[in-house]
Amino acid sequence: MKETICTIPINDIFMPKDGCPICRMEDMLEKQYVKFITGDAMMEPNIRIETNKKGFCHRHFSQMFTVGQKLPNALILESHLQEIIDKYMPAKLKGKPDKKQLEGIREELSSCYVCDRIASDMHHFMATVFAEWVKGEEFRKLYNEQPFICLKHYSFIMSAATGKGGISSKLLPDFYAETAALTKNYLVSLKADITHFCSMFDYRSQGQDWGTSKDSIERSIAFLTGTD
Ligand SMILES: [Zn+2]
Ligand SMILES: [Zn+2]
Repeated sequence: MKETICTIPINDIFMPKDGCPICRMEDMLEKQYVKFITGDAMMEPNIRIETNKKGFCHRHFSQMFTVGQKLPNALILESHLQEIIDKYMPAKLKGKPDKKQLEGIREELSSCYVCDRIASDMHHFMATVFAEWVKGEEFRKLYNEQPFICLKHYSFIMSAATGKGGISSKLLPDFYAETAALTKNYLVSLKADITHFCSMFDYRSQGQDWGTSKDSIERSIAFLTGTD
């Protein structure tokens, strides 16, 4: 599969100004990879080698099962299960289990083909975001008009900005400040909404307006965990 990133104009991700744009990007990649893995990827033996080795996390197995047909799911599992039998299950266990094999199982359990592909694409995507931000006004304005950057992506962006393909040290303080404002302003307003929400359960608040607090629990969860 080609780098999906190259086909996505970055403005399309930032234009809607609805929630965290980085969540939107991740969400889109996730949908594409889950569809791809139970579809076109079936024709690519190299990908099966990878999925046999890495497997999938619970979230992505569930999505594949929901989105994909049963046969592709079963075929992926058939060779993945066989690989686990061959690698980690000795014909007859004598004495203690092999430490390396147990380590291998632990690694297998914590790896996911879809998560890895998304993570790698996200780094390319962020490099494009940084490059556009550095270029200046138009994108920078769009960046600052985002409703917020969720907590997960705040941490991701702030770290990625200093890495390879990040932002030059001269411009970093501005970038940090703008990104921090996007996260903090929203966080503070969210906290105020939650406080208001709580206060509405007080009998003294009877008849008062819920204001923007009605969906503050849902919005807090989305802010704290990224989109579901
Ligand atoms: Zn996000
Ligand atoms: Zn995953």
